[in-house]
Amino acid sequence: MTDLSQPAADVQSQAAPTGVAPPLWLLAELTYRCPLHCAFCYNPVDYTDHSRELSTEQWLGVLRDARALGAAQLGFSGGEPLVRDDLEVLVEEARRLGFYTNLITSGVGLTDKRLGDLKAAGLDHIQLSFQDSTQELNDFLSSTRTFDLKQRVAASIKRHGFPMVLNCVLHRYNLPHVDKIIEMALAMGAEYLELANTQYYGWAHHNQAQLMPTPEQLEEAEAVVERYRRTQGDRCKIFFVVPDYFERRPKRCMNGWGAVFLGVAPDGAALPCHAARSLPGLVLPNVKETPLREIWYESDAFNRFRGFGWMKEPCRSCDEKERDLGGCRCQAYLLTGDAANADPVCDKSPSHEKVVNVVKLARETATANEPREQPIVFRNDANSRKLVAACSSDEPPHERGRGQGG
Ligand code: SF4
Ligand code: SF4
Repeated sequence: MTDLSQPAADVQSQAAPTGVAPPLWLLAELTYRCPLHCAFCYNPVDYTDHSRELSTEQWLGVLRDARALGAAQLGFSGGEPLVRDDLEVLVEEARRLGFYTNLITSGVGLTDKRLGDLKAAGLDHIQLSFQDSTQELNDFLSSTRTFDLKQRVAASIKRHGFPMVLNCVLHRYNLPHVDKIIEMALAMGAEYLELANTQYYGWAHHNQAQLMPTPEQLEEAEAVVERYRRTQGDRCKIFFVVPDYFERRPKRCMNGWGAVFLGVAPDGAALPCHAARSLPGLVLPNVKETPLREIWYESDAFNRFRGFGWMKEPCRSCDEKERDLGGCRCQAYLLTGDAANADPVCDKSPSHEKVVNVVKLARETATANEPREQPIVFRNDANSRKLVAACSSDEPPHERGRGQGG
């Protein structure tokens, strides 16, 4: 296994600023606090270990430094970014700096007053998440009673004149409702609908056996999406993000490690991808200690998987490596225990069988008609602490979370 705590000499030599493009997209994960408890949450399962948040002044510094580096798009996310009462201050500064800003929210806390203040501060865009088109499933999957509130918030967002993306994470339970979810987005006047099939990191990885759909469910949902695209035209632009477990080649993850994306976690850790925290031994630089420019161009964490020098076989000699860059490093780690392996979604990977087996298991459990209430592990502080304790036990990371109710 590749030891990520040791700098890779061959990769570090590629760290010269001249060979690396600036970041385009800054994701400011303002907080891990969230009133919802989604079973598929992409936050790290050990988020309770990283709960100290940057101050307002520190976030303002991050925004200025990222803009100076070249970042042009800025997402405010979390957790739930609205739990920070300085959100409006940050949006105002982002607007002054010339960022295009997007608020990624569950809607909880998005009152009329805050919508008005955010509009006045210059917020460009809002992405509102729903868990399903039905109250029952929306509230079950988030372990909260938030469906009605989200409906009201969607109407307020439109009243305030914001462009709105409705986002719904898809999985085994709500894929059969895709037509209703699209109808809901149309009725709400959403300009965009993002139907994002679950990516299996964080809590979603932990609950993978319960969430993974069958290939038939995906095919049917895609056909429904196509039908609506044909009949509704541009009334609402529908994105359908397919989970790569059903493919034979991996996704070009983040468009390349350290290529366009710069995430900053609530505690100031800089992230080359959303799930980088899951890679043990990779020392994530922190904006409290290291200037952002140095983090982007010179840190080992951001240089570790840039280019091709880090690759092992079969990627190293593969004639497709420029297309997919070997896939996702976090998925490679979660499924094989080594982040420098080929993403096992690829059928050239010696570990591809693991992905095949996950899909097979999904079919078996989906047809077994098991009750869904248990044993999904919902994202909350108590479960996070339990998982942290379990993770410090002896179970190998790529086996962790396997068989949870599956
Ligand atoms: S996925 Fe759900 S629990 Fe996680 S941050 Fe978003 S709203 Fe909160
Ligand atoms: S072997 Fe590696 S580079 Fe080649 S297609 Fe598979 S993941 Fe991509």
